[in-house]
Amino acid sequence: MCLFCKIVNKEIPSNIILEDDNFIAFHDINPKAPVHILAIPKVHVDSFNEVSGEMMSNMTDFIQKIAQEVKIEESGYRVITNIGDNGGQEVKHLHFHVLGGAKLKWGHF
Ligand code: 5GP
Ligand code: ZN
Repeated sequence: MCLFCKIVNKEIPSNIILEDDNFIAFHDINPKAPVHILAIPKVHVDSFNEVSGEMMSNMTDFIQKIAQEVKIEESGYRVITNIGDNGGQEVKHLHFHVLGGAKLKWGHF
């Protein structure tokens, strides 16, 4: 079972912010911004390459709820999903980084 499936199953503890039947959001263990949350589907999906439009639609609603919950929807934030080797994906379970709480830098390789 992959690392994030274990987090879904609560076999590995995480700091959960929001959870519903299909998704879970928790704090990244190594934050790259003052707010750094990971949003994942409970079912295992390898990456954005495999996600359905229906799941993405629900994921959008879930991420919007996260932004409201941690009060970054007005100040702004960034949503990123890394895909494959060139994308820098380390955990092969679809996840969206939700980053905020400060003015974020942009534009480096
Ligand atoms: P990726 O590089 O795959 O896009 O992002 C994986 C993210 O998962 C990284 O930001 C990393 O800090 C985070 N991460 C890795 N292992 C754990 C863990 O055990 N718990 C939590 N909360 N985050 C983790
Ligand atoms: Zn998984």
